[in-house]
Amino acid sequence: MYAKRLEKLGIINLEDFLYHVPFRYDDFRLISKVSQVQEGEIVTIQGKITDIKNQYAGRFTLQKAKVDDESGILEITWFNQPYITKSINVGDLISLSGKIKESKGKITIASPEFEVLNGNSPIHTGRLVPVYPETRGVSSKWLRRQVYKILSENKDELIEFLPTETLEKNKLLDFLKAVEQIHFPDDLEKAEKAKERLSFDEFFLLHLSSILRKTEWEKELFQKPFSITKFKKNTDSFIRNLPFKLTNAQEKVIKEIFADLEKPIPMNRLLQGEVGSGKTVVATIAMLATYLNGYKSILMAPTEILANQHFETVSKLLSLHKIKVSLITGSKKPKEKDFDVLIGTHALLYKDYDLKNLGLVVVDEQQRFGVEQRSMIRKKGESPNFLTMTATPIPRTVALTLYGNLSLSYLDEMPKERKRVKTWLVPSQKREAAYMWIEKQIKQGDQAFIICPFIEQSESLTTVKAAAKEFDRLKKDVFPKLKLGLLHGKLKSKEKEEILKQFREKKIDILVATPVVEVGIDFPNATIMLIETSERFGLAQLHQLRGRVGRGEKQSYCLLFTDITSPAVVKRLKSLETLYNGAELAELDLRLRGPGQLFGTMQHGIAELKVASFSNLPLIEKTRKEAENIFSKLSKYPELNNKVKELNTQQVSPD
Ligand code: ADP
Ligand code: MG
Repeated sequence: MYAKRLEKLGIINLEDFLYHVPFRYDDFRLISKVSQVQEGEIVTIQGKITDIKNQYAGRFTLQKAKVDDESGILEITWFNQPYITKSINVGDLISLSGKIKESKGKITIASPEFEVLNGNSPIHTGRLVPVYPETRGVSSKWLRRQVYKILSENKDELIEFLPTETLEKNKLLDFLKAVEQIHFPDDLEKAEKAKERLSFDEFFLLHLSSILRKTEWEKELFQKPFSITKFKKNTDSFIRNLPFKLTNAQEKVIKEIFADLEKPIPMNRLLQGEVGSGKTVVATIAMLATYLNGYKSILMAPTEILANQHFETVSKLLSLHKIKVSLITGSKKPKEKDFDVLIGTHALLYKDYDLKNLGLVVVDEQQRFGVEQRSMIRKKGESPNFLTMTATPIPRTVALTLYGNLSLSYLDEMPKERKRVKTWLVPSQKREAAYMWIEKQIKQGDQAFIICPFIEQSESLTTVKAAAKEFDRLKKDVFPKLKLGLLHGKLKSKEKEEILKQFREKKIDILVATPVVEVGIDFPNATIMLIETSERFGLAQLHQLRGRVGRGEKQSYCLLFTDITSPAVVKRLKSLETLYNGAELAELDLRLRGPGQLFGTMQHGIAELKVASFSNLPLIEKTRKEAENIFSKLSKYPELNNKVKELNTQQVSPD
């Protein structure tokens, strides 16, 4: 019964209990005599139970007890916890912690934390008491008991795994001490030291595992059988002939890519850039350089629609060259299997293509950074360069820790100052007005997206059903006079294309879509983005969604619907009204909600930190240096070595 609930807290095995660390401690250290307590004090009283009973008060029960500690007698009341009279008996030696109150001249503690001692040392009272993140049916008290038990029964298994030199150099507590002190600290400084040690472990292990991946990539894999060097003149003239001038960011990234292409080891680069920052042309230039050296390129997109769009863009850009650009999707097959640049969905890897002479693979908007693709290609014996592109910003600190093995490029500059998408948070009482405003805008010729409530990460039938329901409601009750279309991931690609075509031709006014559908499509006439249950999204994801409007000349708008009124939620969402930088928003999300909540965290394989925080940049740096120092001697430390290997197999490796 507990297993399911614990899983919600990320607790699966015994070790996970130890890493489920308290977020605060109740300070119940002041042990006082009944005769000396003062009103308002938080104290612990220890004495004998002289009386305990249930009292009925209407529909509720009160539990009344008396405790005698020889200095005096204290009366205690609990509210509606009848089990208490079963677990405490007259004569028990009990320990109670809570706040002293005076009422009608009598001193009492209301609803104190309690435990029967009868010879045992206190866990829940009389000390710094850990308070844990809880979930329904799993209380801090229960967790405390489990952790205490594990710590007292399994000491032998809690073996130090850090090298002595690391411990000494960084003045860290030893492992057993650290887990003991983080849960049951002697004082707050010890708790802090314990946290420091366990945070150190977390980053240190992540760094070691990413160094391990990097060395595997570089050595086991291969010497690249070629390098791409002859391209300068031609790419320069290509760039001069573009209909626009490259941004400084684009130029910088192209230099970074070229430097990689020249090296004898395959490039493994992650290119991050917001929607519209111009990733496609950067990829196209890399593919052109590859072609000029006599090698082929593949460009993979997550959906057919995006593959089609890329095909059009890339063919147009490369039209002055004699490059054979082919498109393969579920519904379109190229006439011949010969190509210079092949564009399609990931499925193209599973087709029977001649991948000999493959020089470059570009993976667009792929959440797992090409892991699968790489292993597919590896199997065919090729070792091309990899360029993975994503519009989902990952905070730099996270990227540095987890993807130390990838080279990172950022397109942190937009081609031209786009008009900002005006953004408003819409509380439930303004819903009707917002709908009316949308109708008015549409009558003036605009088009809108409505993003359905977010339900789950992957688009299953549940999401589709909910979307269909929302679609019906909008059509019937809200916009009966307008033309609405519904787009979700379970539609056949022909159906999707048809709907998008109608939207483009303005035969549809409002496109109702599921949250995960089609990033990166261009509809200059769409000016309104309405997002339902916006509180369920990360800020960066909301920013990405609103990036789908504001592509044309007209002013665009993003309406964030929410029924939640909690100040924290409202404040978080309102930050979108003033912040327009995806990377900044991602950082903010990280601070407010933690990495587990980052958009697509799961798809990115970003490990959830248990103790440390990604905002601790100095520690990230320190642990990285230490990891670099220790890595070459790793085999001397079998426990550490095992931990690193274990981590490498567990993680959804983003290499
Ligand atoms: P994304 O990074 O979202 O994939 P795209 O590559 O699709 O962005 O580019 C978005 C739009 O901006 C395209 O129409 C592209 O032609 C245009 N574009 C790209 N680079 C520039 C630039 N330096 N100046 C002006 N427009 C550009
Ligand atoms: Mg794109």
